Amino acid sequence: MQTYPVHEFFHSWQGEGTHLGKSAFFIRLFGCPVKCSWCDSAGTWHPDYVPKEAPRYSAEWLAEKAADSGAKIAIITGGEPTIHDLGELTEQLRAKGVASHLETCGAFPIKGKLDWITLSPKWDALPLDENLEAASEFKLIVEDANSIEKWIQQLGSVIEGRPIWLQPEWSKRADKEILRIITETVKQRGGFFRAGYQLHKIYLADNLDPNLQKSTPLGGNPELGY
Ligand code: SF4
Repeated sequence: MQTYPVHEFFHSWQGEGTHLGKSAFFIRLFGCPVKCSWCDSAGTWHPDYVPKEAPRYSAEWLAEKAADSGAKIAIITGGEPTIHDLGELTEQLRAKGVASHLETCGAFPIKGKLDWITLSPKWDALPLDENLEAASEFKLIVEDANSIEKWIQQLGSVIEGRPIWLQPEWSKRADKEILRIITETVKQRGGFFRAGYQLHKIYLADNLDPNLQKSTPLGGNPELGY
């Protein structure tokens, strides 16, 4: 029986992307080698927060928790969840009637049967071609005025045909220039480009779950560089 190192699990709702607002059970796994400076889930990898022995739970136990919540979607996130073999977890979730949604940077092979893949590419670990093709939607983090064009150049036409969410990096969420660039891109390019936001952070939705297990706040800690 495979076990997974779990940073937190909770029942809330999807706060971004195509499935925005839907009831969802979150499984946040430990570990990410990418280490983005603005990571909003650094509690999964930053040495200041990662415990010596991360709590581990079996695929079956996690799937039962997800099914018991009543949510029809489990969002497997991190950290970077694809550093783990998700085969058994996604099988157990499917057996219990819960769809597996993945949040990934796309830089590592995806092991498991996913029903939905949100790929948010990162410059320090570019996505694999096979993952770009398998993605259901894309989420481009807009860090500065050039971010969108740089990503369009980097990723090319392979990302066409699926939603491409443009989201301000959270510490820049009130930056008028970033919001203007997102707005202009959607107006000028239209098609699959969509203006996005992390609505759950406004609601503090994660904090409303009584089973919440969390060591760092979502939104990062600018004093520690993320
Ligand atoms: Fe890893 Fe994602 Fe955080 Fe970057 S934003 S350090 S890829 S978990």
